[in-house]
Amino acid sequence: MFFKQRSHKSKQHDPGYNANRTDDLYALTTDGYIIAQDVVCQNEYVLSQRCPNCQQQTMTVMAKLNRSFQGLNELVAICTNCHERSSYIFDISNAVYQNWLAEQMGDLYTHIYEGAPRVAAPE
Ligand SMILES: [Zn+2]
Repeated sequence: MFFKQRSHKSKQHDPGYNANRTDDLYALTTDGYIIAQDVVCQNEYVLSQRCPNCQQQTMTVMAKLNRSFQGLNELVAICTNCHERSSYIFDISNAVYQNWLAEQMGDLYTHIYEGAPRVAAPE
């Protein structure tokens, strides 16, 4: 209980949270990936989604697939109501994410994805 309350109160100090999120958060790239700007936002996105099958807001993350060599991170979720599975693919190649990661990681930061950083598709 204490842990839950604490993590909620100090969200800005969560090491997985980027205080410099921009309006591009959750925008789609031209290739259809969801722009992520930190680690926390990816879980938040999945929890905010409705199940494609039963339409309930009961999706919960069950697996994370590291695809950083593609500049991507994939979360596989399952609906706790009807057990439908769904997958969400986030772009982590964008500059906001990479700058944030570099700051968090310091000397441990390595730039894995060789391609150009993805940007939000024009509206
Ligand atoms: Zn469902």
